[in-house]
Amino acid sequence: PPRVLVLTGGIGSGKSTFARAFEALGVPCIDADALARTVHQDPAHPATLQIARAFPQAMAADGRLARGTLRSIFALDADANEELKRILRPAVLALAAEWTRRQQTPYVVWESALAMDQALPATRVLVVDAAYRNRAARIALRNPDWTRAQVAGVVAMQLARADYLARADDVVENDGTLDEVRVLTEQLHRKYTDLWS
Ligand code: ATP
Repeated sequence: PPRVLVLTGGIGSGKSTFARAFEALGVPCIDADALARTVHQDPAHPATLQIARAFPQAMAADGRLARGTLRSIFALDADANEELKRILRPAVLALAAEWTRRQQTPYVVWESALAMDQALPATRVLVVDAAYRNRAARIALRNPDWTRAQVAGVVAMQLARADYLARADDVVENDGTLDEVRVLTEQLHRKYTDLWS
């Protein structure tokens, strides 16, 4: 099976932007956070049932998790957020591993804000890092209704920057233009292709 490059970093750092750049070079990418959503939107999934027991206030009448409610509970409640991740992580890992076995390239990218590397033998961890002001500006752009304090709160709730960096095999700075993202991704891709082909 392909090697796994875990592509991680704080909210607004630019994970998805780099994932798209790897995809443009032919590297299959999977978004672990999107996988988590497919899990908790499935009312019959054991993880969803576990979440329903832990957070009955987040359930809609149809047995699904109410997206909006979920977001407001978890965006600003660090303990609930931890518990949700703890429940979802094994289900997400299983799906991602199954997908990876079906790919035929030397390596694949798992994009995730979760610390997937702790639960799995990731071949390598690439952390996207960016200056706080750039991250805050990107988050604000995407969530125009959030106050400055909410933006700061969401950034603070995530793993500290030092924790991400401590796990990194490689760090890439995303403080420049999208053209720079492309160039940096090409450099990384050459390195991984040399390592793993
Ligand atoms: P999240 O954790 O919120 O999903 P993320 O780390 O995946 O965030 P992205 O979605 O890649 O971050 O980036 C956040 C926003 O910032 C996006 O709208 C993206 O287009 C923009 N952005 C990211 N990097 C750059 C850059 N180098 N130049 C300009 N815009 C950028």
